[in-house]
Amino acid sequence: MGRLVFLCIAAVTSLTAQDVTEQYRAIANRIIEAAKTDEDGWRKISYLCDRIGNRPSGSAALEQAIDWAIDTMHKDGLDNTRRIAAKVPHWERGQESVALVEPVARPLLMLGLGGSIATPPEGITAEVVPVSSFEEMEKLGREKIAGKIVLYNVPFAGYGRTVIYRTSGAVRAAKLGAVATLLRSVGPTSLQTPHTGTMDYEDGVTKIPAAALTIEGATMIQRLADAGNKVVVRLKMEAQTLPDADSGDAIGDLTGREKPKEIVVVGGHIDSWDVGSGAQDDGSGAMAALQAVALLKKMGLQPRRTIRVVLWTNEETKGRGAQAYRDWVGDKIGDHVAAIEMDGGAEHPRGFGFSAGVGLSPVVQAKALDRMKAIGKLLESIGAGEITAGGGGADIAPLMKDGVPGIGHRSVGTHYFEWHHTPADTLDKVDKQDFRLNIAALAVATYVIADMPERLVEK
Ligand SMILES: [Zn+2]
Repeated sequence: MGRLVFLCIAAVTSLTAQDVTEQYRAIANRIIEAAKTDEDGWRKISYLCDRIGNRPSGSAALEQAIDWAIDTMHKDGLDNTRRIAAKVPHWERGQESVALVEPVARPLLMLGLGGSIATPPEGITAEVVPVSSFEEMEKLGREKIAGKIVLYNVPFAGYGRTVIYRTSGAVRAAKLGAVATLLRSVGPTSLQTPHTGTMDYEDGVTKIPAAALTIEGATMIQRLADAGNKVVVRLKMEAQTLPDADSGDAIGDLTGREKPKEIVVVGGHIDSWDVGSGAQDDGSGAMAALQAVALLKKMGLQPRRTIRVVLWTNEETKGRGAQAYRDWVGDKIGDHVAAIEMDGGAEHPRGFGFSAGVGLSPVVQAKALDRMKAIGKLLESIGAGEITAGGGGADIAPLMKDGVPGIGHRSVGTHYFEWHHTPADTLDKVDKQDFRLNIAALAVATYVIADMPERLVEK
């Protein structure tokens, strides 16, 4: 009997889902064709990367980018264009360097980690102890670690698994008396490209400076140590944390024709690290989202509900823009039908990860996933139709926590983590046609979710 009930639900659900696909196929194809020849999106990302440049929290460039984005949305004909204020941390790296002192004198390429304290002006000169894991370091213990610089020479095993050495490495080493930490950059391969990124301190634990080396530099130190050499480096960093700065999210609406109060959010983050141009991370997501909505507007498509592009500030360190947007929405959160985030680069789009929401019955979740898969079918012609259960993103997390269905854009991600947070994250890494296909993927998904008669997730 239970089985029969399940089959009935599945049959009804797939019919509904099929309807969605059939109903929107023609319009989806029109959007895809328009995106394939779109020039405006590329013009926007070029301006952002080449004229404004990188956009770290606290910088004048970030504020310029936010003002420019709001102005651009306004010129594109979006409504309610505005800045939602947020206070953001302001960290500046200043001059910094690492050099081998023993067994040979040689400079190494490096980048301080975001949020790190400075070294004394003369630097910190100490022996390096390379380790391949926290466990290895903790086995060596205070006796071998105190007074030394720990080098986390940890091979990349996926961002989620490896980034912990960047975020928690300083605290874990300081607990054993280390005087600084170095990190093999969190990325799969390297062409002498150090990767920066945020790091944390913990109350009650001594703050020590932290910097990333290139894979080339880290593995050389490992080889020298393995050969029995005492390896000594000098680390110099002028990094400083200034008072929190004024920043904000840029938003603009394509107002819905029937249910304007119901909102579908699509966005990326406007801030970036202070190296490269923040082209893939996340100029590509921010500009693809902006252009997806601008393109719908230009095509004269007005969906049933409102589509809102949100360009969040300060994703890279504390997510203050994500929280500011959530706070601004307040108790109208129930009007948010879905939130789509693109923050994985604009290589060839692949699809979306989908989370219907917390605490929903399996039947509701299955039905919503089927509907999302039906939307995915509209993107199969460009290879962007893969819909998987589970997805989200840092900037939509505060919305998802309060029940908004979350959708994480996914690309093939072949090279993303080679460029991420490096001086090489520049616009030449973004392929124009792939970028356009990402605009298509976002535009089709947002349009259909905003236009379907029923909400994406019917609770
Ligand atoms: Zn990002």
